[in-house]
Amino acid sequence: MARPLAALPKAHLHLHFTGAMRHATLVDLAARHRAHLPEALQADWPPRLSAADERGWFRFQRLYDIARSVIRTEDDLRRLVRETAEDERAEGSGWLEIQVDPSGYAAYFGGITSVAELVLDAAAEAAAASGVGIGVIIAANRTKHPLEARTLARLAAGLAGHGVTGFGLSNDERRGKAADFAPAFRIAARAGLLAVPHGGELAGPESVRACLDELNADRIGHGVAAARDQELAERLAARQTTLEVCPASNVALGIAASPADVPLRILLDAGIQVALGADDPLLFGRRLVAQYEQARQVHGLPDETLADLARMSVRGSAAPPPVRARLLTGIDAWLAAPDPHRLPAPGNALTG
Ligand SMILES: [Zn+2]
Repeated sequence: MARPLAALPKAHLHLHFTGAMRHATLVDLAARHRAHLPEALQADWPPRLSAADERGWFRFQRLYDIARSVIRTEDDLRRLVRETAEDERAEGSGWLEIQVDPSGYAAYFGGITSVAELVLDAAAEAAAASGVGIGVIIAANRTKHPLEARTLARLAAGLAGHGVTGFGLSNDERRGKAADFAPAFRIAARAGLLAVPHGGELAGPESVRACLDELNADRIGHGVAAARDQELAERLAARQTTLEVCPASNVALGIAASPADVPLRILLDAGIQVALGADDPLLFGRRLVAQYEQARQVHGLPDETLADLARMSVRGSAAPPPVRARLLTGIDAWLAAPDPHRLPAPGNALTG
């Protein structure tokens, strides 16, 4: 027994839209729409992936695209967001930032603007029902033309203050240079959105540097490559740039050979702000609490450090001040509660 990690208040800053879907919901929606799912998304779920080579990454992308294709109606989309909020609440997450590239859903929903507006409406509805605050990150795709990213940035900027809290850049960082997307990030920054590109996952430290230098990143998706570069790690620490570290994703995609190889302790020891995330639980089989469990069990982090990780997730978020204050107070209370490990045995308590 130890302090329950689902009861630790936290924020979840790295979760993709389709990737957040429950597996049972994927299977159900596929049946309803008579969409074929490969075995890796049915009997052999969760799929075995490895992006150490490009074939593995394409396999991951292909499975993601298939999963996304079952979201076809407004009810499907609202269900995904509602269930995600319920799952977040069950895992102690009081604030969620969910990433969506509206162009991936545009075909079934009449274009990127109507997708974005529907996602925001579904998020507001799910937040009210669950009590979990939700911010939406509009994310562009690195493998597409930078002009598409600019269009998405203008869309995101127009929805700042209506539930969009950040602008992201996802997909294969080995293609698509960060600098090409600088104009899009400037549009988002002028609207007050957080800059949250992916970097330092599939590529090395230079990709994290490009996110800082070219995109003025407030946070970085993954960024684990910074563990291999001391100068960069010092810079991230000094700049207080939060890295959204997703341990289960890193292992599933072959970024880390094993859970112990995720450089969590190196990053923390360097003084870097780290927020744990699940990335795509639909494909990696683990939600948010499992990331904290791994930090405890594999990396041996004590409850004080796990509470710090939760605090860093809140501080790196776009959550409004009252939500931040409530979560930070809750984290203090979680840590102040007695550790079940250190409680005296019942007999001692009675006689002593
Ligand atoms: Zn991601």
